Amino acid sequence: MTHRQHQEAADQTTPAQQAAQADARPNARKVFMRTYGCQMNVYDSERMNDVLGTEGFSATENMEDADLVILNTCHIREKASEKVYSELGRIRKIKEERALAGKDMMVGVAGCVAQAEGDEISRRAPIVDLVFGPQSYHRLPELLAKASGGTKVVETEFDIDAKFEHLSERAARPVLKRPPAAFLTVQEGCDKFCTFCVVPYTRGAEVSRSVEQIVTEAEQMAASGVREITLLGQNVNAWHGQGANGETWGLGRLLRRLAEIDGLDRLRYTTSHPRDMADDLIEAHRDLAELMPYLHLPVQSGSDRILAAMNRKHTRDDYFRLVAQIREAAPGIALSCDFIVGFPGETDQDFQDTMDLIRRVEFGSAFSFKYSQRPGTPGATMSDQVPEDVKSARLQELQELIASQQTAFNASRQGMTCNVLIERKGRHAGQVVGKSPWLQPVAIDGPEDLIGTIQAVEITRIAANSLFGRLIAGHHDFIGSTADGHQGGGI
Ligand code: SAM
Ligand code: SF4
Repeated sequence: MTHRQHQEAADQTTPAQQAAQADARPNARKVFMRTYGCQMNVYDSERMNDVLGTEGFSATENMEDADLVILNTCHIREKASEKVYSELGRIRKIKEERALAGKDMMVGVAGCVAQAEGDEISRRAPIVDLVFGPQSYHRLPELLAKASGGTKVVETEFDIDAKFEHLSERAARPVLKRPPAAFLTVQEGCDKFCTFCVVPYTRGAEVSRSVEQIVTEAEQMAASGVREITLLGQNVNAWHGQGANGETWGLGRLLRRLAEIDGLDRLRYTTSHPRDMADDLIEAHRDLAELMPYLHLPVQSGSDRILAAMNRKHTRDDYFRLVAQIREAAPGIALSCDFIVGFPGETDQDFQDTMDLIRRVEFGSAFSFKYSQRPGTPGATMSDQVPEDVKSARLQELQELIASQQTAFNASRQGMTCNVLIERKGRHAGQVVGKSPWLQPVAIDGPEDLIGTIQAVEITRIAANSLFGRLIAGHHDFIGSTADGHQGGGI
């Protein structure tokens, strides 16, 4: 997947939002939520919707109908932040039109731009009533009450423990129906301070949720029909907790515990840092049928010089060793990655080292980005910033290589039979779409009532970003030995 596709995917409605209409309550106040950026923001939006559901809100897909608009924002690259201000310009007009019709509209900016820019946002966009950072979502009712009394609210404290404590119970009356595949945040923040990255500043220090909170939430999700959970964290594999006997658990142990929950058939996790890929986690890929054969393991660069300047604290050889160990434990696994091109000081040779790493590893997919100077990070003030045209040319070359590897990986699935979790209606009538074990979308001819079931599917056709398949097990939930992922898929 290219950067653009990734960004578009993130900016579009999620399956959860598609389910919103079914849950709409006619007389409720309406909330329109737009989510930018990563899956953690998608999860946070779902949880804000949970909180708003208990406050009597129902979701709308139509901003013109909304009593409350929330933009859940991303600050990771400059473009992501600027999108928020252009969207606020559009919202201003809608708010004015509603005011002429005698209707109020409250506007909130949440997420990492809110955290980073605080009251600068209401200065640039006076229509904004509420600015609140990612650690304040559980306080939304209180913040909304303040804002509706006419006070401009800016809330950017870092009280992450309080957030985890309050959000540990899934709301009994959520705004949105649960989709069959959902996210669960287990860890937030980051202490690694890569020199290009704003996350340690916008999300704060690394904090893990407790085993108990995570298991409780996962059980509630499974009980409400969720079949697949993706554990989320900026550094998800740095997660650690305490088992019942006081022993320290890492992510591998947590996955083993979650795999015991009835009805939870699939587990994933993202995003991992190469330094925190513990043996126990790699062994979980070997041992757990529920753990899907897909791993997103960003390396950022293939040049040791640039990796050191980025403060990544791993080398390219460390990465090669890890990949070999992971592939030995889980031979068919799909590997995915993040790359940044044009970090300050990156020479042609450094870039070619990255291309060489990609050729040697062979990825199933990857996200790639031009380096973006983020205020407050060490990279922003480094000399030797790379000119924009050089960054663009490198990005194009890298994305072509990744696209060819993705095509080859997808083509290697042709003719295979694998389990697909059916998640939503397809674009065409009589079509449904689900995910393969390797996280590829698979379109299948079949009725809507397959949504939420796992089906055995033969992959019959391959397109650039998705697969097409044929049901082979008929019309019932299929959980059997054809479940793929633990047999070698061959990359
Ligand atoms: N924690 C993850 C890791 O260590 O790889 C990454 C999380 S970050 C939210 C997602 C991706 O955004 C990064 O992997 C990186 O490729 C990209 N990114 C972060 N800062 C960036 C910047 N200043 N310019 C371009 N891309 C950036
Ligand atoms: Fe950002 Fe990931 Fe580095 Fe943390 S480890 S600073 S989240 S890129």
